Amino acid sequence: MCRILHTIEKRRWTRAILQVVCVCVLCVFAPDARAAVGALDVVKIEGRDFVSVASIKKFYGFTTISRKGNSVILEIPKKRRMTLMIGSRECLMNEVKFVFTHPVMLSGDTACISRIDFAKLVDPVLRPRFIKNAENFGTIILDPGHGGVDAGATNSLGTEAVYNLKVAAMTKLMLEKRGFKVVMTRESDRYLSLQERVNLANARTENSLFISIHFNAGGSEARGIETFTLSPAGVSHYGRDTIASDYTERAGNEHDSANVALATAVHGSVLRRLGTNTFDRGIKRARFSVLSGVKHPAILFEGGFMSHQREARLIHNERYQKAIAGGIVDAIAKYRNALKPTGAVAVPR
Ligand SMILES: [Zn+2]
Repeated sequence: MCRILHTIEKRRWTRAILQVVCVCVLCVFAPDARAAVGALDVVKIEGRDFVSVASIKKFYGFTTISRKGNSVILEIPKKRRMTLMIGSRECLMNEVKFVFTHPVMLSGDTACISRIDFAKLVDPVLRPRFIKNAENFGTIILDPGHGGVDAGATNSLGTEAVYNLKVAAMTKLMLEKRGFKVVMTRESDRYLSLQERVNLANARTENSLFISIHFNAGGSEARGIETFTLSPAGVSHYGRDTIASDYTERAGNEHDSANVALATAVHGSVLRRLGTNTFDRGIKRARFSVLSGVKHPAILFEGGFMSHQREARLIHNERYQKAIAGGIVDAIAKYRNALKPTGAVAVPR
């Protein structure tokens, strides 16, 4: 993660504390997810609500549930598969990795998922058609991260700012061929603040999607793609404990369900395009400024590590860049289909 510019918003302690109680009670669950929760077994574990996996099996019509050691697999053969690990935050849905807020726990012998992970992640991914008024979008806002004086991650082959722009430009052309209107936050190597990006996106009043494109840097072994969506209220920023301001709703929380469904489609689609040339780091939650401020369904996609020797060469290669662009474009079409009343899971197998 290029941490310098992906700043987390300033903490808003006072307001947050006042809002904690009402947010917890009223706002955490969307109406449809709430209806789903009503049909499921909810148990308290360590003071927190959890939903039993057995009742998830029944509600979503999984045909089998099996347990081997700590792994629990729910499956509709050849159609849908969910793999959970007791004690772990990682979940696989149709072989795409998601990172839960809370680990999968046991209540007696029964595996359980935290209610917030169920409502804000599992349900919108398994039932995207229940996301209201989300399918009528024709505009895609592409946000190539960094630019100008802010090069982002750098290595001996190039700069993140330039790679981000290249991938965004390829994505734009492909989307336009499919009839989408595309708006870019920048079309040249110039500097834009995070707030300027948010303002540009929010100036679009028509239904739009916002996709921020980045490449990563980290330790020399770190590799793979990851996709971030805004943490719902009550869910922490990735890799950090929950703090009081995490309970404050941000502008982007209006689209919690659409955010995760869009992330699922893009992440799964790019994973398939890149195949063995990448590693699945998962779909994660964060409070990056652009995700918090943009009033459209939004994701921040990280297309690989410039600090990894092999990935650095791949990222420099136009075929790899095109594969990412193609994956994003496929995903947008799949996402729109998944939202239709007859739509299927957001991650097709
Ligand atoms: Zn970046």
